[in-house]
Amino acid sequence: MMASCIKLDPARGKDHLDNMTNADTKIAVIGAGIAGLSCARTLTSAGYDVHVFDKGRTAGGRISTRRNEQGLFNHGAQFFTARDPEFAALVEQWKTRGLIIEMSEQPAQLGTPDTTPPATRRYTGAPAINDLARSMAQDLAVHCGIEITRAEQIRGKWLLSDRAGQTIGPFDHLAVALPAPQTASLLTEVRPVRTAAESTAYAPCWAAWFTTKAALTTGWSSAFIADPVLSWAARQQTSNTQTGFVLHATAEWSADNLELERPDAARRLVEAFQSLIKTRIDTDYLRGHRWRYARVTKALGQDCLYLNDRRVGACGDWLRGPRVEEAWLSGRALAIAIIEDG
Ligand SMILES: Cc1cc2nc3c(=O)[nH]c(=O)nc-3n(C[C@H](O)[C@H](O)[C@H](O)COP(=O)(O)OP(=O)(O)OC[C@H]3O[C@@H](n4cnc5c(N)ncnc54)[C@H](O)[C@@H]3O)c2cc1C
Repeated sequence: MMASCIKLDPARGKDHLDNMTNADTKIAVIGAGIAGLSCARTLTSAGYDVHVFDKGRTAGGRISTRRNEQGLFNHGAQFFTARDPEFAALVEQWKTRGLIIEMSEQPAQLGTPDTTPPATRRYTGAPAINDLARSMAQDLAVHCGIEITRAEQIRGKWLLSDRAGQTIGPFDHLAVALPAPQTASLLTEVRPVRTAAESTAYAPCWAAWFTTKAALTTGWSSAFIADPVLSWAARQQTSNTQTGFVLHATAEWSADNLELERPDAARRLVEAFQSLIKTRIDTDYLRGHRWRYARVTKALGQDCLYLNDRRVGACGDWLRGPRVEEAWLSGRALAIAIIEDG
């Protein structure tokens, strides 16, 4: 039977959390983005033996920061909003603990038509957006650098295989917190999840980040951009002698240029930025990253998916919508579905 968990009931979930001791139940969470971390934190608080696997070097997924001697570059999600009351309450706690800050300025708007979403409170990590994921991963058993290539259920238990050929498990429950295409290919045999994942869609995004010794006076620190190439630019934290920016391409340009080599894509974004701000930019450090599954353009419209009879579920932004907040809520919803299943 498939529980589609359309309604999230935080109060019920919390009652369960307060009363559970489940140390003998082993749960695998695949993916340590916001959805996987949210799911794992809720399950761990309920006393389950939870193991999170991620192919990346660190937790966070699209909440990503490059750190090096040039500075800190948030090249994935830039900020997040908190519309849901439960998430907003958590955001207040994160703020009090100094894990995040509220952005003091509204981003500027460059070009027309106006692409700025309505003014709202926006939050980002302190100092880097990935610090939030690092903090969420603390006290969890997160195993990074492990790409799960296969998940199979044998006599009711889930066994995972990784790219290095090792078998991991067995687990009583499996929570998959990956982008939809990766969920569909991992759970090919779990038809309801695969079909649901295949019905959603993403837009890609090319990102570039650079430093230059020039001051680059812009009058703003972040901006939504109406332009054929660029959609976003934001100043980054760099050393005193450097100026650094992250640039995001539009979904259309990214899709049209998806297979470019990274240096080429990065160079083209900087050229577009030069034209936009009418200032020559001599970069002394420049990198690019292709987010193949950046923003959900067609979500499923459910909090999560959970199949009680298979003890497997899926969460992530593709379930609810294209935001950090939706990913967090989806992960939490899946954890509650698992807890309610017992
Ligand atoms: C450029 C960009 C800008 C954005 N801007 C914003 C914004 O301003 N505001 C906002 O709210 N949202 C923004 N988003 C969207 C937001 O980042 C996502 O909605 C959210 O982070 C998704 O979280 P998730 O946990 O569902 O997925 P992810 O963060 O993608 O996490 C999935 C994890 O699974 C791991 N993984 C994948 N395959 C495997 C495998 N086989 N085995 C093990 N691990 C695997 C990945 O390494 C990753 O860590 C942006 C995204 C991008 C890319």
